[in-house]
Amino acid sequence: MHRSIKFFIFLFIVSTLGVTAQESDQIQIHSHNDYHQNVPFWNAYSNGLSSIEVDVFLKNDTLYATHGEFEIIKNRTIESLYLQPIQKVLSLQLKGHRKLQLLVDIKSEARSTLKKLMYVLGQYPEIINNRNISIVISGNRPDIDEYLDYPNYISFDYQSLGSLENAQIWDKIALISLNFKRFSSWNGKGKLTTEDYEKIDTVIDKAHSYGKPFRFWAAPDSKTAWKAFRDLGVDFINTDMPSRASTYLKTINHRIYHNKNISKIYRPTFSSDQKNIPIQNVILLIGDGNGLTQISSSTLANGGNLTLTQLKSIGLLKTQSADDFTTDSAAAGTALATGAKTNNRAIGVDTSKKPLLNITEILSEHGFLSGCITTDKMTGATPASFYAHQKDRSDTLDIAKDLLKSKLSLFIGGGSKDFQNVGLPEKFAILNDINLVGQSKKDKVGYFISETEVPSVLKGRGNMLSEATRNALHFFQNKNKPFFLMVEGAQIDNYGHLNNVAGIVSEGLDFDEAIAEAIKFADKTGNTLVIITADHETSGFSIPQGNLENNMIEGDFTTHDHTGTMVPIYAYGPRSQEFQGVYGNDELFAKILKVLSISAH
Ligand SMILES: [Zn+2]
Repeated sequence: MHRSIKFFIFLFIVSTLGVTAQESDQIQIHSHNDYHQNVPFWNAYSNGLSSIEVDVFLKNDTLYATHGEFEIIKNRTIESLYLQPIQKVLSLQLKGHRKLQLLVDIKSEARSTLKKLMYVLGQYPEIINNRNISIVISGNRPDIDEYLDYPNYISFDYQSLGSLENAQIWDKIALISLNFKRFSSWNGKGKLTTEDYEKIDTVIDKAHSYGKPFRFWAAPDSKTAWKAFRDLGVDFINTDMPSRASTYLKTINHRIYHNKNISKIYRPTFSSDQKNIPIQNVILLIGDGNGLTQISSSTLANGGNLTLTQLKSIGLLKTQSADDFTTDSAAAGTALATGAKTNNRAIGVDTSKKPLLNITEILSEHGFLSGCITTDKMTGATPASFYAHQKDRSDTLDIAKDLLKSKLSLFIGGGSKDFQNVGLPEKFAILNDINLVGQSKKDKVGYFISETEVPSVLKGRGNMLSEATRNALHFFQNKNKPFFLMVEGAQIDNYGHLNNVAGIVSEGLDFDEAIAEAIKFADKTGNTLVIITADHETSGFSIPQGNLENNMIEGDFTTHDHTGTMVPIYAYGPRSQEFQGVYGNDELFAKILKVLSISAH
């Protein structure tokens, strides 16, 4: 070959199939019997699989992609299904280039089929000269002593753990593959037995001791199995479901969280719990998007307990909005704050956009003070539902103006920018230190956590929510008046939308610390009712696996949006038993007024 052409090909290879560090970190997945897929090659390739299997059978001087002679389909050859597409990948310089192993499983006689294969491959110099593409022969293979007779671009699958004397022959071995069923009859559900686990572990270690990547065939093909094989160090995970296996394994690192910050649990005294004694104060804590699985994840990542899980009065809320099976935070917040189901996006207005009296407005007529705390912007849908009346949650300026007209004596939240030029300081003393809130003798105080978005716990918010709750409770206690306080743990929802387990767990634990402040206050005062619930569930979260010993949670998700599942409600303090049962989120309002002996109208 002419030197300049050689150099050109070299450049071509480097630029198209250059393996970056990120790509080399990818989990290697093997598309078993890939030619059986509805779209062979492209499905596996586009999903990032790095090993693709094709069975070939030599007939009429043609290499058919087929399991056997009697299943041959005309036009389906190794060339049409694999070599031409790979050539296309190279010539189009498609993105996501990576190492690619084509595992050719020979079903006809070994030597004649290999001879034909070499002839065909000879017509694809870009493939056989590409160092990132390997052609590995499996199935019917020639005698091992003959491996050295084959060209460099051909290597072999070794289906044994026996040692080979000849080091040069070892160099012709690309990987070790074994039949899983030889070692275990595990079906991919639950766990491998301890005995089988040890057998499998030994097998993989032995293969690695030869310095070769390892694959099982005839292995269970499920999420549980993929995870087990990944954890055991199988190099090529065998699957008939390229897209699902790829999605599952590519997302596993941000679906697994090891909690390092064990949250301290407060053990309630229960001295006022479920007693029929008069209630003076109500603290309503809303975990945005805090469904049962979110609560389970933070509980189990915290060694199996939260302050929340100490409580005894438990129920479930149905969250559907007036115009949708699946609510948003605006309609759910409005239902909780006003006792009326409304349309999604509506803040404190009914389905015909008329203002609804909310609980802070009603209670103010009965001598109650009220406050709102959130780790969202203060104009966020949940806090806004307790002080504003606007037809759309994104009418930020009008919501901000409503805070001035509201009955709130205290607010703590983010997004001071939303309140520029609305004259907020004329109504509220805006404090610049959270610890000044508790001592403040002003009638109306506010504290902004941030100018725009409030940072998450993972991004350094610290224990702002529990500090805010403690300070707000001091503030109200100094007033010697009954009060209603809403506290929102807003960002459990954000991380549900992002399908991020670390965020869900860390925000859930942070919310529990605010809950602990409320429960301590209830124990100290004896006449405070604490209610904890959620506006809706987010992300269809599930926790298929975890580990109580190292506080690990593996999460999985069905959506990036809210779901229609019921959410838990917990209550503590006098008459908390009234909040048990299963009911609509619009019924909570009346229950609160009932235990306060206040009629809504
Ligand atoms: Zn949401």
